[in-house]
Amino acid sequence: MGDKIEHAKSLIEETIRNYPKVAVACSFGKDSLVTVHLAREVDPNIKIFSVMTQYKPRETLDYLRRMNERMKLGVTVYIVADSVPEALRDGSLEVVLLPTGEFRRAVSQAKTETGGEIYERHPDECCRLLKVEPTRAAVNGLDAWITGLRNTEGQTRVDYQEIENKGGLIKVNPILTFTEAEVWRYIATRGIEPHPWYGRGYRSLGCAPCSHPGGELERDGRWQDTSKRGGECGIHTQRLK
Ligand code: SF4
Repeated sequence: MGDKIEHAKSLIEETIRNYPKVAVACSFGKDSLVTVHLAREVDPNIKIFSVMTQYKPRETLDYLRRMNERMKLGVTVYIVADSVPEALRDGSLEVVLLPTGEFRRAVSQAKTETGGEIYERHPDECCRLLKVEPTRAAVNGLDAWITGLRNTEGQTRVDYQEIENKGGLIKVNPILTFTEAEVWRYIATRGIEPHPWYGRGYRSLGCAPCSHPGGELERDGRWQDTSKRGGECGIHTQRLK
């Protein structure tokens, strides 16, 4: 595992050298925390951004605020919302509010047409509006971003590479080959507090209605009862530039 850690750090170092306009994406799941921790060992001042949604569990927002303060991360949060959620009201957090009009229209259209919630009936559209577009806003102006994506998380992640180039935006996945056990070992040996939901059997964390505990593969609990089961929100599959 020592080799993987050194390799991850040298990838991050090379990325910072080649692409000074770079930031780390952090969902505040276990893989993100490892990536952030590694990146800050390379550059303690590296920029960190997080895309949150109104459907993230309250525990995630509390955990974000707590870890931001404890690790002095200086996180910038992007969220589709009219006002800063109460859990994120903290002087050390910068919160960028993104317009809510299109999402509100999509929510009411889903209700009218299907009688259900947008995340049940049209999860791709929900993710596009709450995750993909905000991520597009977050990477706007960057040359590269660093993520905690890993090959063994699920079927949709098997073929990713360490360095990707989509439309000129570089994405670097430094812990791509880490196993789930190696992620947990890293977290335990660095004394990083994990998100409380892992203690309840969750293996991959997203929005509350679309995350469930258990599963054969880590991402099996995501969008469990929809056509999107175990899939992707779109930030890793779509062009962001
Ligand atoms: S994970 Fe679910 S609630 Fe969150 S943006 Fe995607 S569909 Fe919507």
